[in-house]
Amino acid sequence: MTMKSKNLVNIERKTGQHWVGNGFPVTTMFSYDDLGKELSPFLLLDYAGPLAFEPSDKPRGVEQHPHRGFETVTIVYQGEVEHRDNAGNAGKIGPGDVQWMTAARGILHEEMHGRDFTNNGGTLEMIQLWVNLPAKDKMGEPRYQEIVNNDIPIVPLAENGGMVRVIAGDYQGTRGAAKTFTSINVWDIHLNTGQKLDLSLPEGFTTALLGMKGTVMMNGTQALNGKELARFERNGDHVALEATSEATILVLNGEPIDEPIVGQGPFVMSTEAEIHQAMTDYRAGRF
Ligand code: MN
Repeated sequence: MTMKSKNLVNIERKTGQHWVGNGFPVTTMFSYDDLGKELSPFLLLDYAGPLAFEPSDKPRGVEQHPHRGFETVTIVYQGEVEHRDNAGNAGKIGPGDVQWMTAARGILHEEMHGRDFTNNGGTLEMIQLWVNLPAKDKMGEPRYQEIVNNDIPIVPLAENGGMVRVIAGDYQGTRGAAKTFTSINVWDIHLNTGQKLDLSLPEGFTTALLGMKGTVMMNGTQALNGKELARFERNGDHVALEATSEATILVLNGEPIDEPIVGQGPFVMSTEAEIHQAMTDYRAGRF
């Protein structure tokens, strides 16, 4: 058994923000255009908010749009998001809930603020993560997993030090809530001030930590703050954390998919021809 730290490659600090529709003020922490290969199987991460919205009688959000070739994972921290798609699926997720949507060969959906949230106003904070599918699964059946807060296993840390919510994968033998196509760990970690945590992470897997709140020291040497993304080398099998203030981080860890990534907007496939086909199919109403 080796015990080698995964070394830090870089900390991405993104300050720009843009609107997705009129509901989601997002900072794109990475996308397949810049770090698709390095962060495989993860394609994109948009961090929305936190931003306070005034009460309104008109739902804000993003109108119907397509996806093909991957999965969208929506993790709500504050606020409410409602979705509706062309296959008749509809649902609402709130704080602590996750929607793991497999677009695969194609869906059309809208993503809006929930009705109560719209009417009452409040703070919105959420993540949308895109996860790639292996080429052989890109044209499979679409699938929805609506995973409510209570269905996400929690591993409490000793002495009220915080907790690990296992959204996907496996944390020290606790299985995550989501079904995935490849080996992926997505952990929502909350640490109290002074808490240490040694994360065991598979050798050879991609690892990135998103800072959301507070400050965490990584491997004793580098600080991760809010709206920063730390990328690690694939070799090594652990990362040591210590919270220097109350902190929330999201761990992304997965087996790289060693296939070409060819993307155009909401379509991510393996070849240019498949992207052209996606556009043709979308225009022809075949989604
Ligand atoms: Mn979408």
